[in-house]
Amino acid sequence: MERRVIFIRGIVQGVGFRPFVFGLASRLKLGGFVRNDDGQVLIEAEGDPQTLDRFVAELAEKPPALARIESVSWERRGVLGEGEFRIETSHAGSSGTHRAVFISPDVATCDDCLRELCDPSDRRYRYPFINCTNCGPRLTIVTGAPYDRQRTTMASFAMCPLCQAEYDDPRDRRFHAQPTCCRNCGPRLEMLDGKGKSFPSDDPIQTTLGALQAERIVAIKGLGGFHLACSAIDERVVRELRARKHRDEKPFAIMVADVVAAREFCEVGAEEEALLQSSARPIALLAKRTSAGGRSVAESVAPGNPSLGVMLPYTPLHHLLFKAAPGLPLVMTSGNRSDEPIAYENDDAVARLEGIADMFLVHNRSIHVRCDDSVTRMLAPSPGISPSPGTPGEGRGEGDLEHQRHSTSQITLTPTLSRSTGRGRNIGRGGKTAGVPAELPIRRSRGYAPQPIALPAACQVPTLAVGGQLKGTFALGRERHAFVSHHLGDLDHYEAFRAFERDVELYERLFDSRPNRIVHDLHPDYASTAYARRRGSAEGLQLIGVQHHHAHMASCMAENRLDEPVIGVSFDGTGYGLDGAVWGGEFLVGDYSAFRRAAHLRYVRMPGGDTAIREPWRMALAHLMDAACGNSALQDRISEDYLKTVGRMVERGFNSPLTSSAGRLFDAVASLSGIRDRVSYEGQAAIELEWLASRTPVSGTYPFDICPIPSDKKNRGKDDSQIVDTRPMITSIVKELREGTSSAVIARRFHCTMAEIILEVCRGMRNSGGPSVVVLSGGVFMNVLLTTEAITVLTADGFSVYRHHLVPPNDAGLSLGQLAIAAARDRSSAALSKSE
Ligand SMILES: [Zn+2]
Ligand SMILES: [Zn+2]
Ligand SMILES: [Zn+2]
Repeated sequence: MERRVIFIRGIVQGVGFRPFVFGLASRLKLGGFVRNDDGQVLIEAEGDPQTLDRFVAELAEKPPALARIESVSWERRGVLGEGEFRIETSHAGSSGTHRAVFISPDVATCDDCLRELCDPSDRRYRYPFINCTNCGPRLTIVTGAPYDRQRTTMASFAMCPLCQAEYDDPRDRRFHAQPTCCRNCGPRLEMLDGKGKSFPSDDPIQTTLGALQAERIVAIKGLGGFHLACSAIDERVVRELRARKHRDEKPFAIMVADVVAAREFCEVGAEEEALLQSSARPIALLAKRTSAGGRSVAESVAPGNPSLGVMLPYTPLHHLLFKAAPGLPLVMTSGNRSDEPIAYENDDAVARLEGIADMFLVHNRSIHVRCDDSVTRMLAPSPGISPSPGTPGEGRGEGDLEHQRHSTSQITLTPTLSRSTGRGRNIGRGGKTAGVPAELPIRRSRGYAPQPIALPAACQVPTLAVGGQLKGTFALGRERHAFVSHHLGDLDHYEAFRAFERDVELYERLFDSRPNRIVHDLHPDYASTAYARRRGSAEGLQLIGVQHHHAHMASCMAENRLDEPVIGVSFDGTGYGLDGAVWGGEFLVGDYSAFRRAAHLRYVRMPGGDTAIREPWRMALAHLMDAACGNSALQDRISEDYLKTVGRMVERGFNSPLTSSAGRLFDAVASLSGIRDRVSYEGQAAIELEWLASRTPVSGTYPFDICPIPSDKKNRGKDDSQIVDTRPMITSIVKELREGTSSAVIARRFHCTMAEIILEVCRGMRNSGGPSVVVLSGGVFMNVLLTTEAITVLTADGFSVYRHHLVPPNDAGLSLGQLAIAAARDRSSAALSKSE
């Protein structure tokens, strides 16, 4: 016999850990107890050594769905002869209140709750707010710390005796599940008409369904905000929704009953299936089924788009809707007007969605934190991609268990947090190529935030990184953890910025982390930069400015746990450069603490500044003029007047900053090849260029030059980087257009050329003593085709290549990169002071 005291750190409180330990210990017939102990779980267990080994291993490997284990350690104690196992209540008063060290993301309804929801004999049969310790709302209902019912939007609902008994019983699945409730004591549904006036309904689910089947548009209150829902089959109503929402072409997501229903419309492989069914339940972008016959979704759901955003039901309310009509796929798009942040409060939703929604399905459980659906693309697993250093064959990042057996008594699961994804599935790791998650996050929000991501080094002081401007997120750094926020939208929107300020404050309370310093982008006009400066001077906080593309690079390094010099290929739309130009086609060499701009795409003018983003033909013209190709390629479609005016802007540099942007080069080629001259949503031209290229076989590349800095005065003195000259490519494209080459072929050759440029530049750097590790970051790498091709050619040439799989490559990832840079600086300054 042996007795061990076992300590478990990580997300282990408020996630059903004690009942889980109790169950496991009882099954293994161990004696002892479990209790919460100052942010960790403490267990004392007695039994024979082999069983205890098994117990410890299972604790680490099969924790409850929401637990994230960082470390398990144990030591021996004297045997007490205990045969029974018990749950000890926390020592009240021993260390005061327990700080909520971690807050879980919201979790999709678990199988147990789903079973009860469908069981006529269960007291929560068809109750739309059923949840337990393993599922339900979390981040979206939290109002403060520590996490308990009083500090959630469930505070106003007093538990009935039955619910209270479950809540108090350590053996119950609802033990300390803060949102526990039932029909007698919990929230209720309510129907509102198009003007927001309540109307009676015996069964709001049926009323809603009836409306949806009758081609109406219903605003449905979800977990993190309102959705606008309508039948996804019916072209007329989808068009009506577009018209009312003022959304021309940006794709809508749909929700379907289950994977079988998803297969009716899309290709669903094993990885996609696991992702769709994961407890995070993101929107997965899936390839539309091309086979003829059978039903298809209305064309207007995602016009001209070869893929479709699909998600499965994730709240009991969704399940009830689909149980009643499993065959009806629903458009479920954010409840907003055009690009505003989604509505999440009942009154606000009525005010803003009046005229869009024919009726509202609401309830009286408030949403405190607005949280959009997360969006993920899948990348075919590439066998060539490098596994994480030092962990051959194991996955990496947030989702991993990295076992390093330091001694017999400790299993360390750091620096990343282990993650079990519910239902025993490991999302994104189902393929044969272990260690390469197929996920490419496009938006990381509901279901993921605020799960911590490991930093390369510990923050010596609490740090806030405020991110960028578009796709806003912030990140709070506490020790080795980065708490990257949910998606906040574009901060030039007043509503979004208000949410940013409010949610920063909330996270600081939740994670008990008042920052001593703020990290921000160098762009003086970003709302986040202004916030940092204002707050910095008001509170006397240290400010750290980080260059935009350096933050992109660091973000990809951090999530891949790289800690060596790399080549950072930072390709995006726009970012503030050190020379005042708009950067975006950058090859950086460096690490967290410093970088050198080793190469970049040749500068061209960006006529009209941001207007050029909405009108890709302007970039086409700028590139044509730069390559001395005239404007004849655009004359068919753009009026002479426009061409003349914008041409003059380019010549004189009037309101036309210089840019090396790769994203704008994609726009230019999309316009040149006749795909799109104007966009109705950000990145549309580049996305369509990718679609077209994806369906076209490889057929060569275009010429380009890599030259050292030209002597002309345009690229002034300080810039010692190489220039990638894209003029030969533009000239070739113009020639091919004249010869009648198809847009599809041009699109494909262009993608191959960009991959080739990346390879050639990286190779040149390696040959001159640079690193052989490459990270791909920036919004351009949301392009799956380019990402895959770049990885393929680089890997074949002996490079180790890393891409994003935890945070999006776009500006939503900046906050993580900024934080990683600040943390790494702490480490170097600590090392410096030690050596002195
Ligand atoms: Zn549950
Ligand atoms: Zn109750
Ligand atoms: Zn960027």
